[in-house]
Amino acid sequence: MDITSFDQFELNRQLLNAVADLGYTEPTPIQQKTIPISLGNHDVLGIAQTGTGKTAAYLLPLLMKIKYAQGKNPRALILAPTRELAIQISKAVTELAKYTDLRHVVAYGGLGPKTQIETLQQGVDMVVATPGRFMDLYRAGELVTKDIRTLVLDEADKMMDMGFMPQIRAILEVIPTKRQNLLFSATFGGRVERLSGEFLEAPVKIEVTPQASTADMVDQVIYEVPNFRTKINLLEHLLTQDDAQRVIVFARTKTSAENIYKFLTRKVFEPNQVRVIHANKGQNTRINSMEAFKEGNVRVLVATDVAARGIDVAEVSHVINFDVPLIYEDYVHRIGRTGRANRTGRAITFVTMMENYHVEKIERIIRMTVPRQPVPAEVEITETPFDEEQEMLRAVDEQRRKEDPTFKGAFHEKKFKNTADGRASQLAKVKAAKKAASRPKSARPGGPRPAGPKRSSSRGGKR
Ligand code: AMP
Repeated sequence: MDITSFDQFELNRQLLNAVADLGYTEPTPIQQKTIPISLGNHDVLGIAQTGTGKTAAYLLPLLMKIKYAQGKNPRALILAPTRELAIQISKAVTELAKYTDLRHVVAYGGLGPKTQIETLQQGVDMVVATPGRFMDLYRAGELVTKDIRTLVLDEADKMMDMGFMPQIRAILEVIPTKRQNLLFSATFGGRVERLSGEFLEAPVKIEVTPQASTADMVDQVIYEVPNFRTKINLLEHLLTQDDAQRVIVFARTKTSAENIYKFLTRKVFEPNQVRVIHANKGQNTRINSMEAFKEGNVRVLVATDVAARGIDVAEVSHVINFDVPLIYEDYVHRIGRTGRANRTGRAITFVTMMENYHVEKIERIIRMTVPRQPVPAEVEITETPFDEEQEMLRAVDEQRRKEDPTFKGAFHEKKFKNTADGRASQLAKVKAAKKAASRPKSARPGGPRPAGPKRSSSRGGKR
């Protein structure tokens, strides 16, 4: 049976509501496979990279299992190689367990253990920790392990790269042997296989590695654009080129897809040349749109990732990623729509300053750097509206903090007052932050663009 909704899992209302609050509409492939197996209490060997949704894949069944606050000792342990990952996992626990009373502590080195010990003393249901700090707390008598029934090793390959094997072995010695184990790793080589053989019991192996080979088949390019409006201008330009005969435009959200569709049907094409599919469209409408696109009656299909799963069209000339997907595996799925059956396709991605972060992660997954091209001269580059700029800078700060929890942020909204002076100083900081966030790769041949507005030559009128 296909799992297209979280409601199909045996998860309780508290968890489903938290999932809905996060805006997850459909489980990712690793979630579809892992959640039922883990709920069945089997050991799991998951081969999945960051970006696939693996964290929620193991957290949801785990939270379901430990359900509500109980006693003082932890009943689940999640080990992560770095404090950054530990913090990220802890954040996911907070978000997913928000409607429960479950308590957890995140324990990592690099700072004194006082607060962590205080939290432990108040009683916790789960511990998220780096191996070294976990053992320190255990040895100090601050961590009682006898009630641990679930162990998750996240990024196990990285743990081994970082030389944590002795600590992991030590931890396995001090936790109860009767427990469920889940091991996640981005790669599955000899060492991970040995480790899984050592501590997993008849695990179910679940693999969602993206096929890097698809990436080789497709001619990929990135355009760096400053804002939404410029993305729209660029989209119009690309879609009105002669070679863009059958194009899928991917958007991250339903709203974004709907806005793109409206723009295209109002300004660029006759309405019957474009279709849009997303989760809010009925099943029949989606099927009809897809058929029309497959048969070549429709030139452009605007789609969200969820809606586009399973589209199999052999002759897509272009895939345009209007937004960078946050589930990185989706990038590979998206570009795999073109370049099928030995045809060379073109995959174009629009990237703003705040999306660069995700592109770097995608490039790591596909193991290649996607070439960047300057926006064609005919395309109008519009000024970024103040609010949009703020939102992007805030996102860039957030990303930096994710990578480095000690990062204080180049941009602090609360410091700015809503006065003329406040706005001037804010603008100065915005400029400084922007400069810091921009990457040298984007240097345009021929120097910077003139700031004044320019009309796109392909504008005006429907085709
Ligand atoms: P992970 O691979 O666990 O690091 O997750 C990657 C990103 O995907 C995180 O930002 C999650 O919040 C997000 N995510 C996880 N599951 C889903 C889902 N089912 N739908 C949409 N986003 C998700």
